[in-house]
Amino acid sequence: MLKTNFGDRTINMHQRKILFIDHTAVLGGAELSLLDLATAYRQRSQVILFADGVLRSRLESAGVKVKVIEVSEKVLELRASGGLKALKTIPELWSLAGKVAVEAKEFDFIFANSQKAFIVAALATLRNSPPVVWYLHDILTAKHFSAINRRIAVSLANRFAAKVLVNSQATGKAFVAAGGKQDLTSVVYNGFNSEPFDCVTDGEARQLRETLEVADAPLVGLFSRLSYWKGQHILLLAMKELPALHALFVGDVLFGEEEYVSYIKNLASEPELKHRVHWLGFRDDIPTLMKACDAIVHTSTEPEPFGRVIVEGQLAQRPTIASAAGGALELIEDGVSGLLFPPGDAIALSKEIQKVISDRTLVDKLAERGYHSAKANFNLAAILDSFEQGISEI
Ligand code: UDP
Repeated sequence: MLKTNFGDRTINMHQRKILFIDHTAVLGGAELSLLDLATAYRQRSQVILFADGVLRSRLESAGVKVKVIEVSEKVLELRASGGLKALKTIPELWSLAGKVAVEAKEFDFIFANSQKAFIVAALATLRNSPPVVWYLHDILTAKHFSAINRRIAVSLANRFAAKVLVNSQATGKAFVAAGGKQDLTSVVYNGFNSEPFDCVTDGEARQLRETLEVADAPLVGLFSRLSYWKGQHILLLAMKELPALHALFVGDVLFGEEEYVSYIKNLASEPELKHRVHWLGFRDDIPTLMKACDAIVHTSTEPEPFGRVIVEGQLAQRPTIASAAGGALELIEDGVSGLLFPPGDAIALSKEIQKVISDRTLVDKLAERGYHSAKANFNLAAILDSFEQGISEI
């Protein structure tokens, strides 16, 4: 066993040689979780990305070996709902699978961190690669994935995956409902280090509020890429019910959807909202931004597979108000470690926000219980242990 120092704990890590692969190098939640896993295994592992980008530099700064195998736009732009169009990319996917199989020879297994990466990895097993583990970060429902896409992903998983790690019970249930084999799955939640949140001082949070010119106003934060199903419009509509409320919108458009961005920017430009909406784009200082807020809001209109921002809000010791669906139900006990509201219901959201901006006792209780829940259930060291268990039979 190899001993790796991680945060304030020393964890015993098996000396597994893992080839992590992901199709994208932008920083979505799945890629941030890959960053943690690959960092923990960096001594004997490597990451392959199918595109260059900020994830590469973040991995390299953490001491992780990275190789980029660039692929065509055609493969990168394969939409989740692309259906039969996917067939046209098969020759390139097959060639890519050959390259991955060659790279993978020195490793114990391939860890596919995205659906596109998994398809390539599954094909690589036909070219004598080591076994494949798929870390599934998506809820495979009709809303996000066409029937053919789900059928392909699930059939490949049933046939070629040695293990399907799912980032929540909700993700696991949807996989099984789509025809995936239950006994392939193990839940491995995302893990978090509380230190970056613990070390933000009240002074730093206050300073940030002053910079944003929201010193004394009630302030909520929504931390997410800009995307229709992430529901930024739900918070904007809720703000119409709360005339003093300011909101930070933190995150950028990551996977297209410029039309939605125009829609929400237009909504936010209405006179009753325009001075209270702060668009911050993609930021790296999430702990300080969260600590500057009075509450963290999560507004997905569809079930969230996991919901990293919910756990981060809890670690920031801020009341976290989330859409009651998917992974959020595994992260929040309503009224205890956060508050839940029906997905897509802006009026219900405004009422939950009103509760936290007017009830200090409730705020303190939610902040304390949320923090303890996040530390107890989602600390990185414990999650790395569950990852080890998930891959122990491979
Ligand atoms: N995030 C970030 N900068 C931003 C907006 C978001 O680093 O400007 C991070 C956020 O802190 C969280 C992740 O992106 O860790 C989003 O993960 P989540 O599970 O909430 O959503 P996903 O991107 O996986 O759909």
